[in-house]
This record gives sequence, structure tokens and C-alpha cells, in this order.
Amino acid sequence: MTTVLVTGGAGYIGSHACKVLARAGITPVTFDNLATGWQEAVKFGPFEQGDLLDRARLDAVFAAHRPDAVMHFAALSQVGESMARPGTYWRNNVAGSLNLIEAAVAAECEKFVFSSTCATYGDQDNVVLDEGCAQHPINAYGKSKRAIEEMLADFGAAHGLRSVIFRYFNVAGADEEAEVGEFHRPETHLVPLILDAVDGRRGALTVFGTDYDTPDGTCIRDYVHVSDLVEAHVLGLRWLEAGKGSRVFNLGTGHGFSVRAVIAAAEAVTGRTVPIVEGPRRAGDATRLVSGSVRAGQELGWTPGRSTLDRMIADAWRWHQAGHYER
Ligand code: UDP
Repeated sequence: MTTVLVTGGAGYIGSHACKVLARAGITPVTFDNLATGWQEAVKFGPFEQGDLLDRARLDAVFAAHRPDAVMHFAALSQVGESMARPGTYWRNNVAGSLNLIEAAVAAECEKFVFSSTCATYGDQDNVVLDEGCAQHPINAYGKSKRAIEEMLADFGAAHGLRSVIFRYFNVAGADEEAEVGEFHRPETHLVPLILDAVDGRRGALTVFGTDYDTPDGTCIRDYVHVSDLVEAHVLGLRWLEAGKGSRVFNLGTGHGFSVRAVIAAAEAVTGRTVPIVEGPRRAGDATRLVSGSVRAGQELGWTPGRSTLDRMIADAWRWHQAGHYER
């Protein structure tokens, strides 16, 4: 394995993936339209600006770099936005992925690692969320990702495309060397919003819903350190290289933390108070999303060793203070 096409390589998770690929001796070729990504985040390999909806551009990039595999991170990923603008999600995520998958098949690039999400499971209280769990997404984002999973299965059956699908729980933290980190504009994710509120870059954090059926009334999520998450992707590549066939893996720790618990951890790490206001629920939010799976550990040998709340917040805080991208 020498070259991997990384869609969304200028984004939060994609840029961390490029770093871990480069460290493993693999050239990451970033394909990104910079709609939500940052050119300064492309530090570890070549950059090809382009849009997944542009099939000719994709074909040209496959021809120029002849990648051994694809890692497909590029997507719109905000639950709330997906409820307000479903067409944008279906076009960008689903139609864009169809173009990419067809281009990969045409180029005989048959190893595919895909970023899916626990949002495909929906709101299933008291159900252990492992890979065999039924998928009933409750927002357009989750539905778009489930559709792409189904597409990959069909292309696998018809064209021999082999895929590793990772269903991410909540990704947080940043590269411990702060070379890349999380920076969205607009920002909607809990940890960076907390850190912005802590240092006064924006006003108080709104807690979306305090009347959920959880011990403290706020939603519970399973947070994974981004550097642990991308290491699983390299293990996924090795899995495909070994000819082990298509497989789905949850990437979570099995530990759930409420919004209030994340706020408390951020106060402990930063030594500062997080200003909050309590607001209504956000459309599309599930009550509790916690992985019940040990498959990635057992079959890939993945250990999310950095994924403690304190470590994720400490690394995010270091990046937050170190710098940001500019347009
Ligand atoms: N959240 C919140 N206030 C915010 C942003 C997020 O209370 O300003 C909550 C959100 O309702 C969810 C959790 O924090 O329960 C994680 O949200 P995020 O958007 O980071 O990730 P998601 O779970 O939507 O993928």
C-alpha cells in the first residue's frame, strides 16, 4: 500500500487521518472542495481541490495518483442542519458518494474505508448498539450515511468493492502536537463550543435540552479521541489488504458522558468556569448513543487508549490555544 485517496482530507478527521497515514509510510492524497475544510490542514501529502459531484475531476485524480485505496471522510455532518436542509445532505453525501464509488470501481481501486456514524442507529433506548443492531436513523444526516452503507454493500456484491465501514460515535480532541485540530465555521460541536465559551470567544454555551430521560436530564454520548479513531482506519486498511472482506465496525469506547459531564470535565481541565444557558432540545438529537461493541478491539486489535474525557479535552484545549485556520 503506497497511496490512499483521502476525501475530506482538509477537514477535522481527514487531516488527522492524513497524519497517521504519512506516519505509516503511506502517501495521503487529499481530495476536498474546501466547503468546510481548510487548505492549511493539508500538511502530509498532495492536495487535489475538487468536488465529489464532479465525476470528471474524480476520474482525473484517480488517473493521476492511482491510489491503492480510498478513505472517504468528505461529508456534511451536522445533525441540526440536516433537518433544516435535507436536500443538501442527500445531494452532497449520497450523490457525491455514488460518484466517488463509481469512479473508484472504474479505476479498479477496490479497497474502500468509509466514515459512517452511530446516527444511523437512531434513538434506541436500552438497546445495545453493536454492529448487528437495526438502523433506524432519526435525522437526514444519519439517513444519508445509512444509504451510503447500503450502496457499498451493493457495489461489493456486483463489482467486488471491499469496504470497511466505521460507525463513529462522537469524535473529540486533537492531535497531541497540535499540528491539526478541530475547527469548523460555523462550529456546532460540543467540545469546541465549550472551549470557545470558556475563553470568551463566544457567549455562553446553550445546553440543548435538560429534560431527557437520563440521570442529569442531558443527552449522553460516547466520545472517542480523534487520534485513536484515525488509527482504526489504518487497521482497517490492513484488514482490506489482508483480503479479509467487507466489515462494519463501531468506533466508540462503550462509556457514555452527559453534556453536563463534559462541561464539568472541561472546567476541571481548564480551571475555568463554562458559562451556560439551558435551552430547548435540538431537532434530531437521540437521547443516548453509546457503543456496545467490542468488535474493533477483538478483530482489528484497536485500543482507544487516548479516549478519556480529560485527555480529549486537554488535547482540544491545547489546539484551541495554539492556533486556527484562516480563509
Ligand atoms: N450540544 C449542546 N449544545 C451545543 C452543541 C451540542 O448541548 O451547543 C449537545 C448535543 O445536543 C448533543 C451533544 O452535545 O447531545 C453532542 O453534540 P455534537 O453536535 O457535538 O455531536 P452529535 O452528537 O450531534 O454528533
